Amino acid sequence: MIDLRSDTVTQPTEEMRRVIAQAPVGDDVFGEDPSVNRLQEYVAELLGKEAALFVPSGTMGNQICLAVHCRSGDEVILEAASHIVTYETAAPAVIARVQLVPIASELGQMPVEAIQRAIRPPEYYFPRTALICLENTHNRHGGTILPLSYCQEVAQLARQRGLAVHLDGARLWNASVATGIPPRHYAELADSVMVSLSKGLGAPVGSVIAGSREFIAEARRWRKLLGGGMRQAGILAAAGLYALQHHLERLHEDHEHARLFAQLLAESALLQLELRRVQTNIVVFRYPAHLTFAQFAQACRQEGVLLSAGMPGYARAVFHLHIGRQQAIDAAHAVIRATRALLT
Ligand SMILES: *Cc1c(COP(=O)(O)O)cnc(C)c1O
Repeated sequence: MIDLRSDTVTQPTEEMRRVIAQAPVGDDVFGEDPSVNRLQEYVAELLGKEAALFVPSGTMGNQICLAVHCRSGDEVILEAASHIVTYETAAPAVIARVQLVPIASELGQMPVEAIQRAIRPPEYYFPRTALICLENTHNRHGGTILPLSYCQEVAQLARQRGLAVHLDGARLWNASVATGIPPRHYAELADSVMVSLSKGLGAPVGSVIAGSREFIAEARRWRKLLGGGMRQAGILAAAGLYALQHHLERLHEDHEHARLFAQLLAESALLQLELRRVQTNIVVFRYPAHLTFAQFAQACRQEGVLLSAGMPGYARAVFHLHIGRQQAIDAAHAVIRATRALLT
């Protein structure tokens, strides 16, 4: 079975398991886990931030950042199909207790004028706008990259209006590898950044948030409050550090495989997709309109490929550490076979 549901389905490699087994550990709630501390320092350095904090998941990382940036009742401007809006179980309403202001977009880039319009004037009877969130790469739009110039424009607007910027960079690594722009150049435009270790990088668990020393001190309180204070977490952090040091450069292979898969689907003329959307390791494409996603996915599964659902009407294939070039080709042919069978 070729599993393209997500880049989270990867297994730790043999070498990663060896590193995990040998990781020095301590009680991280006391700040004494050397492997966690090493990872945090490494990521802070990579992102050009003063400090970083290892968290159990990207969702917790995003939610902690929202809670640190906002007061209860504040507004957060973010893209309508963003992960925070779609896949985080309305946590902003529960944890930071903020109101979300979703702005629709084409490729994950909220029009700057729309952001401008969404910022509230400072009247006491309006909600207070506190934060703008960006997602790079954008998951639901198909792993699309926010151009650096766009991020600069948003950051400038935020500064002018006294707002903070949070970057959901679960796949910032992919944006960076695809463009050749170092992650710190994106990160410097945001007050806080969340990056995942368990997506394309292949570590089993964990994300990291980064920001100023003061921001991270407050984030550490929120992590504890949410039950995210882990003890000998170096077992996990060591895997994350290993993944950053060994699996980052190879992400371009995932991008090449995604592109190859997308081109084969496009050439078949049986499936509709926009090649301009295929910028990193995710391919979203339309499946035949008379089917449900479950029917389409079942047919693909019978041909040996697992897919996940994208936006309504779209299937999603995600390329990762365990998918080679030949599997990308085989997967495309399997999806085409399944589609042809469904259409006849
Ligand atoms: C996966 C993902 C997250 C959340 O990460 P989890 O570790 O699954 O909680 C956040 N943002 C984006 C864009 C993601 O793709």
